[in-house]
Amino acid sequence: MPKQNIDHTDVASKRVLMRVDFNVPQDEAGNITDDRRIALALPSIRSAIERGGRLVLMSHLGRPEGKGFEAEWSMRPAAQRLGELLPGVKVALAGKDPADDDAKRAIDAMHDGEIVVLENLRFNKGEKKGLPEFAQRLASFGDIYCNEAFGTAHRNDGSMFAVPQAMEGKPRVAGLLLSRELTFLGDTLANPKRPFVAVLGGAKVSDKIGAIDNLLARVDTILVGGAMAYTLLAAQGHAVGSSLVERDRIDDAKRIIAAAAGGRAKLLLPVDHICGKALEPGTPTMNTEGADIDDGWMGLDIGPRTRESFVAAIKKARTIVWNGPMGAFETRPFDAGTRHVAEAMAAATTAGAISVVGGGDSAAAVEDMGLAASFSHVSTGGGASLQMLEGRAFDSVGLLDDG
Ligand code: ADP
Ligand code: MG
Repeated sequence: MPKQNIDHTDVASKRVLMRVDFNVPQDEAGNITDDRRIALALPSIRSAIERGGRLVLMSHLGRPEGKGFEAEWSMRPAAQRLGELLPGVKVALAGKDPADDDAKRAIDAMHDGEIVVLENLRFNKGEKKGLPEFAQRLASFGDIYCNEAFGTAHRNDGSMFAVPQAMEGKPRVAGLLLSRELTFLGDTLANPKRPFVAVLGGAKVSDKIGAIDNLLARVDTILVGGAMAYTLLAAQGHAVGSSLVERDRIDDAKRIIAAAAGGRAKLLLPVDHICGKALEPGTPTMNTEGADIDDGWMGLDIGPRTRESFVAAIKKARTIVWNGPMGAFETRPFDAGTRHVAEAMAAATTAGAISVVGGGDSAAAVEDMGLAASFSHVSTGGGASLQMLEGRAFDSVGLLDDG
C-alpha cells in the first residue's frame, strides 16, 4: 500500500516534524566528508518550506549512548551544511538536547519557511529506549510527522516509532526518498518482470539467510558470490582452504541448498575462485581450476568462469536485485568479480531491465565505479534494504497514513 507523502500534505504555517537520516561521515576535525544523506533529503525539505511549513528536523549521528551532549557528535556541522545548500533559508540549531527547553523556545519562535534542527537524538536515552515521556515531548513539537529516514526504517527507535505513535490523529506521512525506496524495493519484489535474477554476496551468510529464503520463493535465479559462498560450498563438501566459513551455519547452508534443489529458483554458486594467501594488498594470488580451494589459500573473489556465467544470467534478466559484493573488492585485484557483475547490470539496465542495489558496501562499490546512475535504483539503506529483501514490513512505516 503506498503511503501518503509530504508533497501531498498541506503544510502551510504548520510545524512539520521530519525524521531525517543526517548520519553523515565526518573526519577527525569534524568536517563532513560526504553530504549525500543531506542532499538526498533536500526535495522533502524544500517541499515543506517552500509551501510555508515550519520545518523541525531531527536525526541521530554516530553512536552516543544517551548520556547528554557531546560536542563531537553535535548536529552543528550538518545544520551548517544544510544552510549552505539552502541559500536564503533560515536554518537554526537548537539546544543541547533534542527535547530541551531551548529547542521548544526555538520552535515556538519559528516563522513560515524556516528550519530548526534539533540536537542529536541519541544524546537523550529516550531515543534508543523509546521512552514515552521523550516521545510525547518530541510529538508536541509537530503538527505533522514526516518520516524521511529510510536508513533507520528497520529500527524502532523513539523518533521512528514512539513519536509517530504519540502523534496519532495528526497527519503522519512519508518523505519523498522513503517513498521511492519503498516503491522500488517493494514493487520490484512484488511484481517482477521475468527472468528475475538476484545476486547475493558479501561477508556473512548468516546476515542474509532471511533474504535468501524469501528470494528463493520469488526469483528465477540466485547467483551467490562473496565470502558467503564458501559456507554454502563447504556444506556441499567442497574444500575451501582458509576462506571465511561460518561453521555454525553449515546446517542452514544445507537447508538452503536443499530448498533451492526442490524449488523453482536456480541457485548458482562459484565454480572457480581467485585466491590470495591472506586478505591484504600485494598478497600472492592464484586462480583455482574448479570449485575446490587448496589448503593455505583463501577465496577472495569469484573466478573468470564464474564471472562469465553470472554475467550471462544477468544479461538475460529483466529484473535484478543485488546485495553484497562478489569479493573483497576494496583490495585489488579482488575487485574484478564485483566490477564485471556491476557492469553487466548497468548494461542490462540500459537494455530495459529494472536493477536495484541494496547493501551499504555494494552501494559504495557501485558509487566508486561511477556506475550509480546506470542502475534503476541504488538504495540508501543497508539494513533497511536487506529487511525488504527478507520480505519483512517496517513497524515505523506501518504507522504512516496510506496514500
Ligand atoms: P553489503 O554491505 O553490500 O550488504 P556485506 O556487508 O555483507 O555487503 O559484505 C561486504 C564485505 O564483504 C566487504 O567488505 C568485502 O570485502 C567482504 N567480502 C566479500 N567477499 C569476500 C571474500 N571472499 N573474502 C573476504 N571478504 C569478502
Ligand atoms: Mg556491509
